[in-house]
Amino acid sequence: MEIRFEKREQLKEKPDQKHLGFGKFMTDYMFLMDWDAGQGWHDARIVPYGPIQMDPACVTLHYAQETFEGMKAYRRADGKIQLFRPEMNAKRMINSNKRLCMPEIPVEMFVEAVKAIVKTEQDWVPSEPETSLYIRPFMFATESALGVHMATSYKFMIICTPVGAYYEEGINPVRILVEDELVRAVQGGTGFTKCGGNYAASILGQVRAEEKGFTQVLWLDGVERKYVEEVGTMNIMFKIDGEIYTAPIEGTVLPGVTRDSILHILRDWGYQVHETKLAIEDLMQAAHEGRLEEAFGTGTAAVISPVGELAFKDDAATINQFKIGEVSQKLYNYLTGIQWGKEEDKYGWTVEI
Ligand SMILES: *Cc1c(COP(=O)(O)O)cnc(C)c1O
Repeated sequence: MEIRFEKREQLKEKPDQKHLGFGKFMTDYMFLMDWDAGQGWHDARIVPYGPIQMDPACVTLHYAQETFEGMKAYRRADGKIQLFRPEMNAKRMINSNKRLCMPEIPVEMFVEAVKAIVKTEQDWVPSEPETSLYIRPFMFATESALGVHMATSYKFMIICTPVGAYYEEGINPVRILVEDELVRAVQGGTGFTKCGGNYAASILGQVRAEEKGFTQVLWLDGVERKYVEEVGTMNIMFKIDGEIYTAPIEGTVLPGVTRDSILHILRDWGYQVHETKLAIEDLMQAAHEGRLEEAFGTGTAAVISPVGELAFKDDAATINQFKIGEVSQKLYNYLTGIQWGKEEDKYGWTVEI
């Protein structure tokens, strides 16, 4: 792929690596590429970061034909930069795009584009412990027309933002509210895709949970509101009687790269892993009987997010005395160790840039 480069007059000042937060600072450049029916992908370019023009009738603004990805570039102690399983993000975007009738980007092209923008922005990859460069590839329809149909033109873009250590004051368990009215996904819907629409529909649940003092929502299945599925932006796992339980990937749950990696590691460590439907009543009962030993979310941003409390209707249970569990901590240390190049990557998951 040929990538045109347009230089900025002046580079931005880099933010303080100790106070990066999440998604507050955008880097100097962005990647863009266009797709038109008949022509396919064309005009790949890296240009100064800035606003893009959009026609008010752009179909994305009305019908949300939009998908995205989330991944990171990590700086190792030797100064080199690496990605973590980027081809999984590429494949997931293909699956998202198929569902939303959007053009596919071949895996190699996706990874090449990610590598190119990260290489351009290498000085933006921070080096403070547990900081990284968050990478946001996304695609949307650009055609202007108000009829509902598959659009005939699209844009693929990648923007980057340096992000701080997720746990600045150590890993704090979160309080989670089980949503018993609103639903996130049903079989046949878009639950397995990373599309903007899924998030738009989830904000009400998130707002209500925050009003009640919770950090996140745990979604149940959309039909019976009975089986545990996932948290807002994370998959979720439970350790019950020494064994691991998580929802299966069957169309409603987002197939997380972190989820897949954690399950690999747990199986290697000899844990019995069940990708199975788990009823919320059984989970709450296990919690009250002290058999729910650990609960944690998994996702690119936090890697592991321990759950300290689960609330369902008028029932609530504290998990592991509101402390991070032993396995959760071990998983966090090991997987972040691989990502930042401190642990040997025996799975071949990292890709050097
Ligand atoms: C992105 C996302 C996840 C986590 O996926 P990772 O690839 O591990 O970052 C989980 N659930 C939802 C709904 C997501 O959007």
